[in-house]
Amino acid sequence: MTEETKSATHFGEDVFGDEAIRTYLSKDTAKKLQATIQEGKPLDPSIAGEVAHGIRHWAMDRGATHYTHWFLPMTGSTAEKHDSFLELKDGEPIMQFSGKNLIVGEPDASSFPSGGIRSTFEARGYTAWDPTSPAFIKRHSNGATLCIPTAFCAYTGESLDKKTPLLRSMQALDKSLKRLMKLFGRPEAHSACTLGAEQEYFLVDKEYWKKRPDLVLTGRTLFGAPSAKGQQLEDHYFGTIPDRVLSFMNDVERELWKLGIPAKTRHNEVAPAQFELAPQFEELNLASDHNMLVMDTLRNVAEKHGLKCLLHEKPYAGVNGSGKHNNWSVAYGGKNLLDPGSNPDENAVFLTMLCAVIEAVDKHADLLRASVAGAGNDHRLGANEAPPAVISIYVGDQLAEVLERLENPKSAKHEAKGTLKIGVDTLPAIPKDATDRNRTSPFAFTGNKFEFRAPGSSVCCSGPMTVLNTIVAESVDRIADELEKTKVAGKAKPGEHTAAFHNALQKILQTSLKAHKRVVFNGNGYEADWPKEAAKRGLPNFPDTPSALAALAKKENAALFEKYGVMTKRELESRHEIFLEEYEKKVRIEGTCARDIASELILPAAKAEYLETAQAYEAANSVGVASGTSALREELVELGAGLDALRTEIGKLDDAIMRSDSAATLASMQALRTTVDSLEKRVSEARWPLPKYRDMLFLY
Ligand code: ADP
Ligand code: MG
Repeated sequence: MTEETKSATHFGEDVFGDEAIRTYLSKDTAKKLQATIQEGKPLDPSIAGEVAHGIRHWAMDRGATHYTHWFLPMTGSTAEKHDSFLELKDGEPIMQFSGKNLIVGEPDASSFPSGGIRSTFEARGYTAWDPTSPAFIKRHSNGATLCIPTAFCAYTGESLDKKTPLLRSMQALDKSLKRLMKLFGRPEAHSACTLGAEQEYFLVDKEYWKKRPDLVLTGRTLFGAPSAKGQQLEDHYFGTIPDRVLSFMNDVERELWKLGIPAKTRHNEVAPAQFELAPQFEELNLASDHNMLVMDTLRNVAEKHGLKCLLHEKPYAGVNGSGKHNNWSVAYGGKNLLDPGSNPDENAVFLTMLCAVIEAVDKHADLLRASVAGAGNDHRLGANEAPPAVISIYVGDQLAEVLERLENPKSAKHEAKGTLKIGVDTLPAIPKDATDRNRTSPFAFTGNKFEFRAPGSSVCCSGPMTVLNTIVAESVDRIADELEKTKVAGKAKPGEHTAAFHNALQKILQTSLKAHKRVVFNGNGYEADWPKEAAKRGLPNFPDTPSALAALAKKENAALFEKYGVMTKRELESRHEIFLEEYEKKVRIEGTCARDIASELILPAAKAEYLETAQAYEAANSVGVASGTSALREELVELGAGLDALRTEIGKLDDAIMRSDSAATLASMQALRTTVDSLEKRVSEARWPLPKYRDMLFLY
């Protein structure tokens, strides 16, 4: 890093990265630690003591007095349990941090969801250092804490977190890729999955937020009539960023840069008060941890600006919700395998990877869908602005044509343009912007990577990325199996392959495309016809979380995760249980919150309005004035009807909650909302107890 970059950004200042390693560790130890990090190897125990010593000094130089193993429990957020460096030795206070403290922790942490993997009286939970994600400093107003990214598992080794399966899936894909690349004659190299996670979010003034129990307790508004102006004019998207928001963004980025997170892009999103932050992509595990820190930082910095950052997928009805586009690719030996490349040999690898992804997504659309399921995302998937709940792939017209010519070289349709022979032809240049036009697809090829757009804004990237790695590992393996069977692969260096090799590969890819091209859809995913067409093609469509999560209970899916060492059957079952329970709890909290707001805030306001109207009507009558009485009477009737409906809907909702019926709870909440939102238009502004959409969505 140049001095100029350093002083402008303070990039990586709070990360125990290259520079800190060089400064705080001996040359020898630094070298061993770097090797561990780069190759993802286990740490040499003989250096743990010195590394811990160095990290402590580095952290204390930055004001840290405490350390914590930082991990990703199944709650979907991050967890930390702090210990101080302070210890008493012979009655004397000293600062200490041992190699053991660095490598393993025993936080117990028995109250996290485990889906039956551990009960509180059973084995402890352990955290184990993940050296591939560097330690960092978390600052607060009067101190700092050293955070050590870790994996969290039970005594039995079963995973209790979101990081462990991700690391395992990366290993699985690495193994499959090494096998495939060997068949292509490539020298063995380091493979790396990459992730760029675009983060959408809303901001709301904290004063409004405080007055909205629904936002406080559930993260979304359960009531609220639409604002006259919403996003119709499309004037917010990419508009001038308001000063208050820009200064918030600046502070966020400064914090992120210090943590070594390459925040790159910021802009207004489509809905009013909606924004986006996109980092430059990094290796997957690090990028996934970094996204957790991005969400943390957005929330924390918002507080300092008198704002609240809403990461819920659908904070407001009637305007766009928020997603988290997961841009994913794989590199081998530093070269992106999803880059079409410039010669026939690179093209062959690219087409193989492209077909492998298409095959994987078609075979396991159910698992991808399950990986983005959740109570919040249910309001977004399939809603107008979001990718539909049907998982399909967009590749763009040019690439679609390439695939067709690859599949049917003899078809007369393509005679004019010529066939596409692997190993002989180069691909036509595929301009990036030609592949990036379709925003309606849940899974789009965007020039040199895939963009999975179905994940919701609050999701931890590791879930969807674990699935993607695993299913691609499987299809890469299957293609490698076929190639191996032909006995012509793995015999030549890149550029020196025989025609027999290329013909064999072409046949394998043709068979794969024939079987799986149904998942490719280049049309408009928002059109009403698409779900019908998708059904004809046999593509699954799971409209809600419980139906989507059923994929985790399927035998063949458990077998897949077991085969690739990503999750045991028990681990998968535990996750199914945890996610379902989380969904049910969230719906219950929302239902209860809606009921409470309706009966404690809305009902009294509506009654007061009714009373005032009745008194006005009575007063007019008592002084014998006729004008106005018919209007007052009508208003009274309408308010009365609203009050009646309110009572009825509250009763129904209460009943659904009592029966723990999630579907009925959601339906009753919707009916109640319709009543409340129409009362919002009848009760005077001064009396209405909740800040309105028009206030909250336009904070400037
Ligand atoms: P947009 O989607 O807004 O047009 P881009 O497509 O340029 O923007 O980039 C979106 C995200 O994709 C960024 O985070 C970027 O770093 C990431 N990205 C670019 N190349 C790759 C790659 N090879 N692997 C993973 N992510 C990538
Ligand atoms: Mg994008």
